[in-house]
Amino acid sequence: MLSNKYSLKEVFVVKGDYNADLLEQINNFCIEKNIKTGMINAIGAVQNIRLGYFDQNTKQYSTLEDLSEKGPFEIVHCGGNVSLKDGKPFCHLHIVVSDREGKCFGGHLMPGVKVFALEFVVHSFDGAELERGLDETTQLPLWVE
Ligand code: ZN
Repeated sequence: MLSNKYSLKEVFVVKGDYNADLLEQINNFCIEKNIKTGMINAIGAVQNIRLGYFDQNTKQYSTLEDLSEKGPFEIVHCGGNVSLKDGKPFCHLHIVVSDREGKCFGGHLMPGVKVFALEFVVHSFDGAELERGLDETTQLPLWVE
């Protein structure tokens, strides 16, 4: 187990841009503000959705079936963290969205999701740098010591 202790450095409350890519927009914000470690929460609405699923047997990410006919969607919850990957701030986010009937779909947030409305909060932490590296067992870019 890897465990680091941090103190809260700054909190940013951000209104995102219409039509921008959800993941890219949050990731670029963290790069611009040089947020190396932190926690991210977002709500709002998206015009489409692209959800990733990591197959633990094949060790490959796949994008879930095309959900475009069920959209647009509310963001019920989108959350995750920011740490370093290849020395740069990198956001790892998961998302749950709901359709017009309240049915929910969730998974790993992939690029290619267009924002309709977005409100996100970033809690930036002070402390040891947290870097991702390839984990041999899972073949995922997990936190390394
Ligand atoms: Zn994930």
